[in-house]
Amino acid sequence: QAKEMGRNQFRFFTESLHEQLQTYIRFSREMPKSLEDENFYLLYQPQVDLKTSKIISVEALVRWKHPELGIVSPLDFISIAEETGFIVPLGRWVLSTACRALRELSDLQYDDVRIAINLSSRQFRDPELLNMIRQALHRYRIDPARLELEITETLLMQDIDLAISTLTELQQLGVTVAIDDFGIGYSSFNYLKTLPINVLKVDREFIKDIPDHLDDMEITAAIISMAHRLKMKVVAEGIETDVQKVFLEEHHCDVGQGYLFSKPVPLDELFEQLAQQHV
Ligand code: C2E
Ligand code: MG
Ligand code: MG
Ligand code: MG
Repeated sequence: QAKEMGRNQFRFFTESLHEQLQTYIRFSREMPKSLEDENFYLLYQPQVDLKTSKIISVEALVRWKHPELGIVSPLDFISIAEETGFIVPLGRWVLSTACRALRELSDLQYDDVRIAINLSSRQFRDPELLNMIRQALHRYRIDPARLELEITETLLMQDIDLAISTLTELQQLGVTVAIDDFGIGYSSFNYLKTLPINVLKVDREFIKDIPDHLDDMEITAAIISMAHRLKMKVVAEGIETDVQKVFLEEHHCDVGQGYLFSKPVPLDELFEQLAQQHV
């Protein structure tokens, strides 16, 4: 039986193998219906320019409002959606919802704010990906540079030839590409050099123990300077303390994301945050 824990958050990892199978079967059946019923929604987490302290971008993060289980974390349903193929229609919905949000931002004169969305492996391999992105950009009249796609290193390494050709096409389209969770997967520095990638996101794993773990600080500093040499911008994920922020500023990290600045928030709350910083 699935459990509800803390703030009404359903957590998958506490389940036994049998329960996980039950959840798999249940979620695969329920997710498509939930999309029709509009039970998925996006939250937006600000990304702050560490030089100016302004919000320059937001990451769209999906949530599932389950009729019985409450709010389900993407950590608990994305992998199931990926396996069943439901990630394709869900990803299409995420893209179009994010583009609609970009249009609203433009209409409110926040033309410089960008939105990043996460792409999973199956979406990245979908032959319709490029068309889908083109259509969404066209429909909502979005400057492609304002849309950022986050992909992981592991995804890139699965099929490097496909990665190169898809990334090249995305580059031609003018969208921004970021490597998410950098440092915890299989990275090849050789591919980093050749792949058209604009942004590197340092995984929270390296940030969370600053300033206690000196090795994490060395690695973080090294990743930042390597990325800059390769003409990439650097985002640090999961900044929770001022000490971490100051360390990253001192090492010329470009952008920060984390609870210190803001947790992921609904669109109207993002508008409020933007309004406040523009006064
Ligand atoms: P991610 O892309 O690495 O997103 C960052 C995660 O870190 C988010 O978790 C965010 O809420 C959390 N986070 C941000 N700042 C902090 C912090 O200061 N401290 C801590 N402890 N955590 C922080 P979330 O929203 O639960 O998403 C988890 C993962 O689910 C994402 O990791 C991403 O891989 C995946 N995901 C979320 N939305 C989508 C989506 O629309 N499509 C796909 N394919 N995957 C998604
Ligand atoms: Mg991400
Ligand atoms: Mg990440
Ligand atoms: Mg992460």
